[in-house]
Amino acid sequence: MKNRVVILGAGESGTGAALLAKAKGFDVFVSDMGAIKENYKSELVAHGIAFEEGKHTEEKILDAQLIIKSPGIPEKAEMIKKARAKEIEIIDELEFGFRYLKGKVIAITGTNGKTTTTLLTYHLMKSAGMNVALAGNVGESLARKVATEHHDWYVIEISSFQLDGTKTFRPHIGILLNITPDHLDRYEYQMQNYINSKFQLIQSMQTDDHFIYCSDDEVIAAEIAKRKTTPSQVKVSLKERTTRVHAEGTKMNFSFEGNSFEIDQKDTTLKGPHNLINTMSAVTAVKLAGVSVESIRAGLKTFKNAPHRLESVGTINGVEFVNDSKATNVDSVIYGLGSYEGPLVWIAGGIDKGNDYKLIEDQVRKKVRVLICLGKDNSKLHKAFDNVVDKIYETQSVKELASLALKVAQKGDVVLLSPACASFDLFKNYEDRGNQFREAVAELIKNNG
Ligand code: ADP
Repeated sequence: MKNRVVILGAGESGTGAALLAKAKGFDVFVSDMGAIKENYKSELVAHGIAFEEGKHTEEKILDAQLIIKSPGIPEKAEMIKKARAKEIEIIDELEFGFRYLKGKVIAITGTNGKTTTTLLTYHLMKSAGMNVALAGNVGESLARKVATEHHDWYVIEISSFQLDGTKTFRPHIGILLNITPDHLDRYEYQMQNYINSKFQLIQSMQTDDHFIYCSDDEVIAAEIAKRKTTPSQVKVSLKERTTRVHAEGTKMNFSFEGNSFEIDQKDTTLKGPHNLINTMSAVTAVKLAGVSVESIRAGLKTFKNAPHRLESVGTINGVEFVNDSKATNVDSVIYGLGSYEGPLVWIAGGIDKGNDYKLIEDQVRKKVRVLICLGKDNSKLHKAFDNVVDKIYETQSVKELASLALKVAQKGDVVLLSPACASFDLFKNYEDRGNQFREAVAELIKNNG
């Protein structure tokens, strides 16, 4: 059959791709190895799109001219190998969406900080009155957006898995925040493969496009030194004072042709050095996209980040409770702890993915008054911090945790849930952990208010 598009995986991106393929007149078939969520299933039915679930039927898949695969399906998956052997073109939903997109793209990637920077970029443009869509890893898939609405700008969060499936995808503005070892199982445990994946961001960018990156990141800096880079580069730095965009303390300095301005982080809703990088990157992008400095300043004051990222969830008797449940590795906790002067009641623990706690020992010694371990097995935390923190408690109940934290905290302290660990021993996921924490604090406020 001609023009057959097969979509592997019917999550948000697969369903979005199916809708767009259908709208463009392809013969579409969706196949998912697992169960398809009800809401996606009813969308497929409503649009007359054929699908199967719980299996991949080879004959129905390998007669495709084009396969759009979910970013979660690795190259080594059996069906992908077979499709490659038959020389069927295989792309990601993002690449497919891009082929039909009219408008410009700001694409944001990095190991950490993608969601914050993407949401902030979108917010700054939207609040300036621009016709902008939010897509990618956060929110709806790009293909769905392209199928249903026209926008002048698309702000897209992209993971390395998604970048792997791109070819012609060309952001007008690309942001690369940082590269630290992550997901290496997907990249044959070769850091260079992961770096190459992140740099796919700029593979199709042209000389009039802009590549914004954090030049303090040693991995990025070393890679740039090795490569010929086509787009115009804008370095963002906390260390160098000479880059066009840099920070001195909390003051962010921006310098564009004929236009320099300064923004103090105190006039924004975000905290901590990591958010200086995220904010400077977002502000640079939207400035290049034409947003005025005045609008940027106003937008920075009204931005509300996604939950579980240094989210203030309440203050009781001068003790502020902060939910940073998204911080599931030591790298993120460095930034969490770095965002406060102390003293802190720090809550950590869960499933450790090979943490090296030495990296935060100094900060913990300086700032942490009490550590509360929230996990089933807390032996590694004890080993690392028994001689560093005066008091260490353990609990497996969030309710108990919140009241214990309030009991041990003193006025002016911050209680920081920044676990450095995955949550699966006691919770469904990091969101569940953060939500339970928020609810427990709300309950405490009710009882102590
Ligand atoms: P992502 O979408 O890449 O996972 P988020 O914006 O959700 O990123 O932030 C996740 C966590 O990563 C935050 O809780 C914070 O601890 C850490 N983080 C955020 N921005 C940065 C950054 N620029 N550099 C390093 N770590 C960061």
